[in-house]
Amino acid sequence: MIEFKRIKTTVLFPDKIYIEWAVTNPALNSDYFYNIYMRDSSEFPDFKKVNVAPLLNQYHYIISKLTLNKFPNIEFYIEGQTSQYKFKSRTFNLLYGLDKRQYLIAVEIARKNELTRKIHNGVECSIYKRMTTGVPCDCKDKVTGLVIKSNCSKCYGTGYIGGYIGPLGPVWVEIYHNGYQLQPTEVGNIDQIVGQARISRPLVEIGDILLEHTRNYRWYIKSIQYITYRTFPVDQIVEIRMISPKDIEYNLKGIIGYGVFERNRKK
Ligand SMILES: [Zn+2]
Repeated sequence: MIEFKRIKTTVLFPDKIYIEWAVTNPALNSDYFYNIYMRDSSEFPDFKKVNVAPLLNQYHYIISKLTLNKFPNIEFYIEGQTSQYKFKSRTFNLLYGLDKRQYLIAVEIARKNELTRKIHNGVECSIYKRMTTGVPCDCKDKVTGLVIKSNCSKCYGTGYIGGYIGPLGPVWVEIYHNGYQLQPTEVGNIDQIVGQARISRPLVEIGDILLEHTRNYRWYIKSIQYITYRTFPVDQIVEIRMISPKDIEYNLKGIIGYGVFERNRKK
């Protein structure tokens, strides 16, 4: 039985929404197609398909050309399909249950966080989102499902071909170094630089990677604390650990300034 899990939306001002999702127990060697349906009760009451072609084995999407600074009463659902059957997510609301006034306040807080970092105390970064679904890598143990090679060049130790979705960005992030911490690794315990970062978008998960453009430092996200206005996530405080330049994650391409947010921006 396949179900959707971890459907997440991030509002990207002024006119885009980033949606990501995963599914439980995807069958091996089977293609998955996804369609996203949306309605905005203030504009059009019936659900419409958002994407033109079905999304093949893809677990994220950007909906653009929206007017998010007003009060978009937007609902979505995602439909998945294999050659065998169809499955559907629950319907979810962009507003996290807020009313118009609360929504506009939340939107303004998130926007200001991002703006302050862009102008003052942030550095330009990209985010790589760790894949939790997809085509399993052959380095994954067939019985236990555990990844055998942490330095695998096909899945980067995630167990899924491609390893990460990204780069997403550019985003402006505040980063603070907090000294060293002993971390267990394959070659014994070693000191690694740890720190804290503040990221307003997109929403991140443990295992995602933060890539600094200027210095090409790469950080592993260890934990996340969401800052919410009412129920709406407006910011994230994350604990990070610097990835060693010897690690496979340094092979992820750092395409500066050409993340998916950027590509979809109107010229
Ligand atoms: Zn692998």
